[in-house]
Amino acid sequence: MSTATTVAVVGGGASGTLATAHLAEAAARAGTAVEILLIDPQPPGAGVAYGTTDPRHRLNVPAKAMSAWPDDPGHFVRWLRRHVACDFPEAGFAPRLHYAQYLAGVLDAAVNRAPAVTIRPVEHRVTDLRPIGRRLRVSLDDGTHRAADAVVLATGYGSPSDAWAPAELRRAPQFVADPWRAAPPALTRGDEIVLVGAGLTAVDMAQTWGREGVRVHVVSRHGQLPLAHAGEPQPPISPRVEPVPTTLRAARRLVFDAVRAAGGDWRRVVDGLRPVTAELWQALPEHERAAFLDGPVRRWDRVRHRLDPAVAAWLEQRRADGSLQVHAAGVAAAERGGRTVRVTLTDGTVIDAVAVLNCTGADIDPRRSADPLPMNLLDHGLAQPGPFDLGYATEPDGRLRSSDGSRPAVWTIGPLRRGALWESTAIPEIRSQAAALADRVVAALPSPRLNRRPRDPFGLPLSTSTGAGAAYAQALGRLLRVQSGAEELVSAAVRLDPGFALGHAALALLGVEWGVEVDVDAALRAAEASAGRADERERRFLEVATARVREPGPDSAAVLLSYVQAYPEDALAVSIAVPTIAFGGATELPAEAWALVEGLASAYGDHWWYLSLLAFVRQEQGRYAEAAELAARALAVEPAAGHAVHAKAHIHYETGDHRAGLAWLDQWIAACGARASHRAHFSWHAALHELALGDDAAVARRYATELSPPDVGGVRALVDSASLLWRSRVVSATVPGAIEDVLRAVPPRLLAEPATPFVGLHAAVALAAAEDCRGLARLRRWAERQPDGPFPRTVAPLADALCDLTHGDPDRALTTLLALPDVDRLGGSAAQREIVEETLVHCAIAAGRPEIAADRLHRRLERRNSPRDRGRAAALPAVQGRAASR
Ligand SMILES: Cc1cc2nc3c(=O)[nH]c(=O)nc-3n(C[C@H](O)[C@H](O)[C@H](O)COP(=O)(O)OP(=O)(O)OC[C@H]3O[C@@H](n4cnc5c(N)ncnc54)[C@H](O)[C@@H]3O)c2cc1C
Repeated sequence: MSTATTVAVVGGGASGTLATAHLAEAAARAGTAVEILLIDPQPPGAGVAYGTTDPRHRLNVPAKAMSAWPDDPGHFVRWLRRHVACDFPEAGFAPRLHYAQYLAGVLDAAVNRAPAVTIRPVEHRVTDLRPIGRRLRVSLDDGTHRAADAVVLATGYGSPSDAWAPAELRRAPQFVADPWRAAPPALTRGDEIVLVGAGLTAVDMAQTWGREGVRVHVVSRHGQLPLAHAGEPQPPISPRVEPVPTTLRAARRLVFDAVRAAGGDWRRVVDGLRPVTAELWQALPEHERAAFLDGPVRRWDRVRHRLDPAVAAWLEQRRADGSLQVHAAGVAAAERGGRTVRVTLTDGTVIDAVAVLNCTGADIDPRRSADPLPMNLLDHGLAQPGPFDLGYATEPDGRLRSSDGSRPAVWTIGPLRRGALWESTAIPEIRSQAAALADRVVAALPSPRLNRRPRDPFGLPLSTSTGAGAAYAQALGRLLRVQSGAEELVSAAVRLDPGFALGHAALALLGVEWGVEVDVDAALRAAEASAGRADERERRFLEVATARVREPGPDSAAVLLSYVQAYPEDALAVSIAVPTIAFGGATELPAEAWALVEGLASAYGDHWWYLSLLAFVRQEQGRYAEAAELAARALAVEPAAGHAVHAKAHIHYETGDHRAGLAWLDQWIAACGARASHRAHFSWHAALHELALGDDAAVARRYATELSPPDVGGVRALVDSASLLWRSRVVSATVPGAIEDVLRAVPPRLLAEPATPFVGLHAAVALAAAEDCRGLARLRRWAERQPDGPFPRTVAPLADALCDLTHGDPDRALTTLLALPDVDRLGGSAAQREIVEETLVHCAIAAGRPEIAADRLHRRLERRNSPRDRGRAAALPAVQGRAASR
């Protein structure tokens, strides 16, 4: 994520384009270097209003009032005379498609005048916006993110509401829910179309869809078309607005008196009221405004939003020749037919229409929007609905008012400020908002010095000193490589800055998730004590650490996963959430972990660490070739990439490429293994190759030199050393080491009350290796008391089966193992969970059921080569014949 001073403008319609042009000017004036992301899938300047390609769609404001620059009113007229017609009248109504071209030109020119400003068009939709420290993260619909120091929300209009339409009509293919996103089909003479709504949109659609011989029905409750501008527009008359009316009655009185004083020329008075409309709106108490919206608003909109007289004349002519009819009615019912839908109006009129267009006008109620962005903004409170659900709630300067009272650096402009200002939808108001907003945004941008807060390797800001930040970043580097020493570095960071809340929280988490010696409670207390200095993300991280420490298990897993969803760039949190060689993870099913990793592609792109994680996922999915390619790419960049090494070890094992796998692992362990934090696990992988190759002596050597206590202790001794001892025993009837030594190196609580089903699995096989039936019974009872899930369903019966086996009853053990459910919910890798199958094959042979053992071994041999398995299968007494015939 870029660290340049960045402003993101969301929406490149007229508002966004004007805001960007004014920002470029303001930044140039302030001498500020800034990068502006102009984010919109549409080309700049278009939007709903000017994105039309139909030249008959005219501006409804005279050209002289459409300049992009408040202080240069003739700017658009001059452009029209240069680009459209050298004598374009300043009071003329230009085709709206020209205005989009004009705005694009304005933007280019503004940027050319501001060398320190860079505009980056981003052709995506924004789906979410969240504060991250002093910056904002802008999430895009391709899953990627951008960081910004300030954001301008210029998303304009949402799709029109169709709540008025009978369900049958909404389901009809002839229904056009959003006319701006549809083009007329082939229409033939005699066709009838219905336009519901009688505003400017209906007029546009009548022009586009009302072909020769097609009858157009305009349907609206009041049955009134927009009024026209004066043929010869006169200058506005601004009535005296003192005192400012505080009742609707007084406001109405003021207008009528002004119109009377203007000799009945209401147009000049309405135009004269424009500069003070926001003031009039804001002076009315809420109930008076509600009364306005309940009735008079329709009359006001008619006199305020007027038509190009030429268009009005066209309408009159169509009405006169009957090809356009206006109905003061609503749509009562609809009945689908073949090419038409039968629409019945409330006045009894019945029309067989080839199309019914929803021209009720664009909607600016964010609560009704189906767009992810407004939904998310309201959901997490960065924005609130504006008065009467018109746009967003804003401060007087257009800054968003968030639900927690914080003041994120997010401004809005245009239609989204209608609730606060009312008169906020047309260019004369939008350009002034853009000019004012630009100065405020540029003034609010962090000065280059402030931007120097330390950041982690993925750009997340850290509320700490440079020195502590550097130590933390180094620690993260170790973790991502699965190297040891990360906890020392985090400890160093909090020594350098005792107020580094995130550092303390990370230390506490490493204590519970990474199994390192840390005073977890003290670290958590220190984190809570310094939370005041932390930013919102860091405070969320602290919540995660607290949950993982206080209630390990599914509840805190949910807290962690929701944090990762909100902050996918936090590689430490991701590391803890994804089950790997290093961490138990927060997902239950392998598929959940795969989805989690796949969903992070956008946050990490082709970073070697992410490629390593993905390589591991791909091998778990049996996509070995892809996994190998990903691991190779990661190791090419970072030879010590522990997850890539782990993925590669699994690829070799699962594809039965034992000799090559062994050679490769041995050279890696020799080269980089010394720093690997989970070195024992790589040795375990090497031993698995040796076991599969039938080289028991090599397994014994490896165990003695790389897997035996005291070099290996803690959870690694349980998961790697003890499980290897059990696996060797059930696969080769050899035991390369003393299980008692291993169990002395394993914290007893891991055997009696394992924190996860994964540890439970390994506790069971370790206790079996020690022939500790009392321990197995204690583990079974403990597992049965755990909430429903892998503990009572899988770990408990597994401990039972191993107890039976230890008691010399392989038959009973076999029965249990054959019925054992949800082995894949035990966590860990397929290769680790395979120890259950190895035990089952052992029980089958011991119980005189070679056919079961043969079936398992053959199915595995079909998947991967293993000289050991081939030998075992061949050695099976009874089924030898059948085995050969397979
Ligand atoms: C049909 C019509 C004609 C009009 N004619 C005039 C006129 O002649 N004169 C006048 O002054 N005013 C006119 N207006 C008023 C109009 O509101 C403004 O002029 C102006 O166009 C508003 O532009 P906007 O950028 O705020 O909104 P919009 O035009 O709606 O543009 C919003 C932009 O935001 C983008 N966007 C939305 N959500 C996202 C997201 N999540 N991520 C990224 N991008 C997003 C959209 O793709 C769109 O390009 C007209 C309005 C309409 C509807």
